[in-house]
Amino acid sequence: MAMRTASDFDHLGPFLSKQHPEFLKIFEAIDELPIDDAHCHLVTDREPIMTSTRFLERMSLAAMDTVPAYFPAGVYDQWLGADERIRYELNAKYGIQQKIDGIIGDISQSIFVKFLVKEMAQFLGCEPNLEAVMEARNARSKNYWSYVSSLLQDVRYKNVMVDTGYCEGASRAEIDRYEEGILPCRMNRLARIEMIQKELFPLEITFDEYEQRYTTRLLDLLDGTGNYGKKSYGMKSYLLPYIGLIEPLYDREIARASWQALRASYHNIPTMDRQSEYNLSKDLRRYNFTLALEECLRRDMPMQIHTGDGEAPSVILRNQDPFYLEEVCRFDRDGVMRMPKIIPLHAGYPSVGKAAWLSHLYPNCYFELSIMTPFVHQNLFQRYMQVMEVVPLSKILYASDAFHVPELYWLSGRWGKRYLAKALTEYVVGGSLDFDEAIEGARMILYKNNRSLYALD
Ligand SMILES: [Zn+2]
Repeated sequence: MAMRTASDFDHLGPFLSKQHPEFLKIFEAIDELPIDDAHCHLVTDREPIMTSTRFLERMSLAAMDTVPAYFPAGVYDQWLGADERIRYELNAKYGIQQKIDGIIGDISQSIFVKFLVKEMAQFLGCEPNLEAVMEARNARSKNYWSYVSSLLQDVRYKNVMVDTGYCEGASRAEIDRYEEGILPCRMNRLARIEMIQKELFPLEITFDEYEQRYTTRLLDLLDGTGNYGKKSYGMKSYLLPYIGLIEPLYDREIARASWQALRASYHNIPTMDRQSEYNLSKDLRRYNFTLALEECLRRDMPMQIHTGDGEAPSVILRNQDPFYLEEVCRFDRDGVMRMPKIIPLHAGYPSVGKAAWLSHLYPNCYFELSIMTPFVHQNLFQRYMQVMEVVPLSKILYASDAFHVPELYWLSGRWGKRYLAKALTEYVVGGSLDFDEAIEGARMILYKNNRSLYALD
């Protein structure tokens, strides 16, 4: 390929003009590569146009679930949909607008948002300030799916592995519109264990019936059409933030006792604190997890497990240590480690080094880059260096965990490629990798590892 100069990359902003010539060569090759997103969520066309405040609320982990939790149940949703008079009354009673302004005010002062605004301004061809970016964005997103598709195609998305267990109650029709709207990028579904538990936990049935229904639903999600009309390519568990250390449970009688305890106290759950609520069904959840992991093992299918990250205020942060997954990676039975394929999610962030070390030690444990990508923005360079210091290139998976707004896919892809190129350049300049090895490493991380793990064609 012809050697480029920094000015050929003007459209990507001032960042590139200051880079090493070797970087430009590596970046040019990596920028052309396709992307598979190993873990993300769908977006819906419910809210194509947004104010800047709403946009920042929807994309920020510090606001998305915390804002409603500051008010009595249902009040925030009522406020969102209310006319001006009702809003005025609710504001007088709960100070809603004032609280949002405080939270979003801080978020808008983060380097992440300041950088995001500059990046989006380049993509949209507008002034680099938040209001101009939102105006340009809203003009494009009126034609919602064409806008979403333009974002995905700009960074060359080819496959998205979508965890349908978090989709804000999207209907089958909304999911179909997403699947169609993102074409030619292909949607592949992942099934979340908690989807089944949510359906079955409220039912007044015996443990035997519960167990039978759980298994039927699990098999339909995996092999049938149980995941919104289609099969699943893999599974996802959200157990770690609820209980911390996950120890597999094979004993049906312990699970039965846990089911009975859940039945006896089910009506008290709304008044329980979160730790007591999760403790109540802990053994049942461990048993469900174990059954699901057995099915994954049988199919040589990976299990993604939520690790690190936040999602305040419902999750318990101290439970999310990546080392709490060691017993799951081992999956010992009868004195043998059975090595199901485990993908700890979100880079274990902020415990990135522990997640990396777990993947280094256990051959069946992989490393996934989402949440950290894109939220640590420019510092992705250092983080990718930290990951690659111990995790083999064949075990690292690009992912975004994009949710709520489509810009998160784009930002992750854009920054993911750029800072991966920067980290790989460091290894080329340092002599650890030659150019071809660096590009092949990027291919593995950006799409090859995902395709081989999920046996995609
Ligand atoms: Zn997720």
